[in-house]
Amino acid sequence: MELNFIEHIGIAVKDLASAIGYYENVLGLKCYKIEEVKDQKVKTAFFKVGETKIELLETTDPSGPIGKFIEKRGEGIHHIAFAVDDLQAQLKEASQKGVELIDKQPRKGAEGLNIAFLHPKSTHGTLTELCEHVD
Ligand code: ZN
Repeated sequence: MELNFIEHIGIAVKDLASAIGYYENVLGLKCYKIEEVKDQKVKTAFFKVGETKIELLETTDPSGPIGKFIEKRGEGIHHIAFAVDDLQAQLKEASQKGVELIDKQPRKGAEGLNIAFLHPKSTHGTLTELCEHVD
């Protein structure tokens, strides 16, 4: 596979407003966007650190993936996202190499990116997102 850079790190939080306070007031970052992704049942807040973003994730529904994650494991790092070119081809290669795909086809994520997830069972425990910029 070919990964370009770490696009973002996804972090599950219980309360978006309070977490934004920490990232802004303590870490000195600036939240540049809050976006709801209905399909994922999350509200997201974005920060930039160099080329990499931090994506805070608050569930909008306890039964959503972030709600379940927090219930099981508490707040913390939820996934790592790598920027790739030709997402479809990268997915195909991952699958050929025995990785279980959560998304067999790319779908729309936050920030208008095409995204797909690899199952943590196949990645030594880290939920891994691949994302492709479309412009
Ligand atoms: Zn993400």
